[in-house]
Amino acid sequence: MAINYKQCPKCESKNSIKIVYGEPSHELFLEAEAGKVKLGGCCISIGDPDYYCKDCEFTWNREQAIDAAYAKIKVIKASIGGYLDGYYHAVVDLENKKTTWSFSLYGEGIEFEKSIRRRTAENFIEQLKMVDLLNWKSSYVEPGVCDGTHWSLEIVTNRRTIRKYGDNKFPKEWDMFCSLIQRVVGKTFS
Ligand SMILES: [Zn+2]
Repeated sequence: MAINYKQCPKCESKNSIKIVYGEPSHELFLEAEAGKVKLGGCCISIGDPDYYCKDCEFTWNREQAIDAAYAKIKVIKASIGGYLDGYYHAVVDLENKKTTWSFSLYGEGIEFEKSIRRRTAENFIEQLKMVDLLNWKSSYVEPGVCDGTHWSLEIVTNRRTIRKYGDNKFPKEWDMFCSLIQRVVGKTFS
């Protein structure tokens, strides 16, 4: 499940159209008349909006769509491990500003909890954008391996929970993501 840049960050409607800049051709002019695109004028400058919401008239660009998508994240739950090596679980609760970490092996476990500052939570969100978390695929599986390392993720937002997982295969930003988790929970996660 990837970021839907066309979804309005203000009212969450998907009834949006692209804003097109430059001198319009006759075809483009007709499309604009039909409400299929919106004309943005002759000149485009940095930060100009790319989309227009037909329901609430809000306009935005891709960067704002990314910010809005990440701002909705309330909790990140991540786990990694294998039957022989044990499992690490980390929960970063951005809403209540606390983290939980645990390690379990053969049914035995240890747990560690701590609170985090608002600034830490904000930095964590910024770094999640850098690992492109919301654009990861929903599964990464290496066929033909029965055992080994499994990982899973739950991204809880105000509306839904996005799940991602993998078996012996990882998104290319995985190591960077593990370092982020380690830093925020203050314990090993890899
Ligand atoms: Zn809207």
